[in-house]
Amino acid sequence: MTSDAERKMQFLFALRSKGVTHPRVLDAMERIDRGGFVRGIFASRAYEDMPLPIACGQTISQPSVVGLMTQALDPQPRDKVLEVGTGSGYQAAILSLLARRVYTVDRHRRLVREAQAVFDALELVNITAFAADGSFGLPDQAPFDRIIVTAAAEDPPGPLLAQLRIGGIMVVPVGQSDTVQSLIKVTRTEAGFDYDELRPVRFVPLVEGLGQD
Ligand code: SAH
Repeated sequence: MTSDAERKMQFLFALRSKGVTHPRVLDAMERIDRGGFVRGIFASRAYEDMPLPIACGQTISQPSVVGLMTQALDPQPRDKVLEVGTGSGYQAAILSLLARRVYTVDRHRRLVREAQAVFDALELVNITAFAADGSFGLPDQAPFDRIIVTAAAEDPPGPLLAQLRIGGIMVVPVGQSDTVQSLIKVTRTEAGFDYDELRPVRFVPLVEGLGQD
């Protein structure tokens, strides 16, 4: 039988071996227990480095991918961050320890409700979760220092680029659904946008409009 402490050590070891090395990111991932974000029969696999099913036919991302995306996003303590694709709330919870304020949106009301309950239980009071089509961003809260999209778009959505502050960073998986996608880092400069291709990834697609549930 593996103890909690051993399981946690293995979890952090797996993250490091996949390239998650920033101390602040590792510290946040040590503090936020992924087990709190996975329900039902998959709960026992929460500490494995794999994506797992959540409600509404969606997935909680693989922890090493969450870590690598968080590193690429490089959130600073005073930053206002937008996440598109709340899902389980795991990524938002990690960001909440690294930034001043996190806005997270999902097209499924049920996912937003369930994630909010976990944020409340963990007293992560700097996260605001909304049910909305995140491809339009959150114009009322813009501009953002950082934007992270955790569903794959064909191109970085224009409204999100427009809501990124100059000097800001957006991390977004780009590509057709069910084919190989690339994780892209977009940096907004005075002159425009710089694009860096980081690595191949596989995410559920960004879908238009609100879901049924
Ligand atoms: N970041 C999540 C994983 C997200 S899975 C976590 O840590 O668990 C991708 C999520 O994006 C799904 O929950 C899906 O409902 C959501 N999504 C897809 N298209 C969207 C859109 N247009 N607006 C908001 N959310 C969207």
